[in-house]
Amino acid sequence: MDVKTKLLAGTIRQLRARRERVVRLIAKIHAKIHGHIDDHDLERYHLGVVKEEAELAALEEHLLWCGPCVDRTEAASQYVDTVRAAACDRAEYSPW
Ligand SMILES: [Zn+2]
Repeated sequence: MDVKTKLLAGTIRQLRARRERVVRLIAKIHAKIHGHIDDHDLERYHLGVVKEEAELAALEEHLLWCGPCVDRTEAASQYVDTVRAAACDRAEYSPW
């Protein structure tokens, strides 16, 4: 690698690190302004009942950058799946 290539690689590395810091900062600001997705909406999202384009886009955009909401989405989906499985089991054994 010649000197110019090394300098360019160093600059690109610095820019990427800076971009990461900016992305994290924007995520923090965004969360403070808009807050997080509430549990009910996370469940609706997991169940696929969010049909409105704008709401769906907003939820998915939030989940792109917000780690805590991604974790809560996984917890909500496990909860929904557990409740759904319990309901199915109950339906199989129900005399109704
Ligand atoms: Zn969030």
